[in-house]
Amino acid sequence: TDTDATAARSHAKSKALAERAEAVFPGGVNSGTRRNGSPYAFADGRGGYLTDLDGNTYLDYHAAFGAMIIGHRAAEVDDAVRRSMSGVDLTGYGVSELEVQLGELVTSVLPSVEQTIIVNSGSEAVAYAIRLARAITGRKYLVKFQGGFHGWSDPVARNVISPKERAYGDDPITAGMLPDSWQSTLIAEFNDLESVRELFRTHPEQIAAVIMEPIPHNVGALVPTQEFVEGIRQLTTEQGALLIFDEVITGFRHAIGGYQEICGVTPDLTTYGKAMGNGYPVAGMGGRRDLMQHFDAAGGDVGLLGTFNGNPTSCAAAIATVSYLRDNPDFYTRTHALGERLRTGLREIMADKGIAAQVVGFGGTFSTYFLDGVVSGYRELLDNNAIASVQFHRRMIERGFLMIPLALKRNHISGSHTEADIDRTLEAMSDVLGDMR
Ligand code: PLP
Repeated sequence: TDTDATAARSHAKSKALAERAEAVFPGGVNSGTRRNGSPYAFADGRGGYLTDLDGNTYLDYHAAFGAMIIGHRAAEVDDAVRRSMSGVDLTGYGVSELEVQLGELVTSVLPSVEQTIIVNSGSEAVAYAIRLARAITGRKYLVKFQGGFHGWSDPVARNVISPKERAYGDDPITAGMLPDSWQSTLIAEFNDLESVRELFRTHPEQIAAVIMEPIPHNVGALVPTQEFVEGIRQLTTEQGALLIFDEVITGFRHAIGGYQEICGVTPDLTTYGKAMGNGYPVAGMGGRRDLMQHFDAAGGDVGLLGTFNGNPTSCAAAIATVSYLRDNPDFYTRTHALGERLRTGLREIMADKGIAAQVVGFGGTFSTYFLDGVVSGYRELLDNNAIASVQFHRRMIERGFLMIPLALKRNHISGSHTEADIDRTLEAMSDVLGDMR
């Protein structure tokens, strides 16, 4: 049973480190969602696996929220970082060879990106995209979708995983924001073009941009209909607003050119990050040259600042990761096939055990909604049994499979996972779900 399988796992050393962490960090962590359930402290990572301080191993599907795409301690990435240390480090003046190489690489693989900026996190990339859109259009409002997450900056820090009573209404994710900054963001429903059209009707010539995760992976995987992405493209163009694709998760993960390569729709601006550095801090934002030229310090009108932007270490990691993905297209065929294997297997288990659940995902990602019926937008997710979702993932963690212990969140298959790993995962899932009935 579940209890027998986990009885041998001790967490004494993880708990001791967590206690030291609590003394120096509020809540014991440096990002809010890292402490959810038991404390875990990891000592080592290799390929698809992590080992904690007590020697327990975990097959890693959390993947640092999707940043680990090749796998832990990928030799090609770490070697590139080491080599970068024999060159110049941070200067704060001029440019370095590595950042130019990364700029050339990114603009060559992302279809809509003619020029880009390189920053250190997805949140920074998004903040710059919104500032640029407001500067270009001279308009105030931003449209985002219920359930979409775009980092911690004020304009987007609202209506992510909202409870029923606050969905579509006022649901800021933090105190401390000036109301005008988050109230200038309007909320629409994913895969519902009419909900966006309505906002353009009620706010004529006041909407600067629509920002969307092309697949909202922060609530599992809501896959857009082709009609919806094409409709948003047409609507934003007609209305003089910019379309921002937030490809911080989908970028480099589902295809080298992100979801825009897959759906063939060209956004005005794209944000990207996470997987591009295989664990090193690096992100970016880019789009059409005429838009990006606003950042030109000589003659442009939008400020671009950041001490660590385009730093050699992060750029070396990103060049190695993106080149690896570009030069090994079988990475995508393999991870997508593994994703399919896992989703199909898990669907069979759910059906077998008579559990009302939807197994969703795209490519190498997967997620489980504990609800009946077909899910196309956030509205249906209001019926998700959050307790069952979290319990499922927590029990899998205790069995040695690291899955994000938050309701709705997706899990990631990396380049280091194998068919045997997937089959082992399905066996454990079958046990865990059997016990949960
Ligand atoms: N955009 C999306 C779609 C994300 O999922 C995230 C992070 O989860 C961000 C932006 C923010 O990125 P970061 O955590 O690197 O600031």
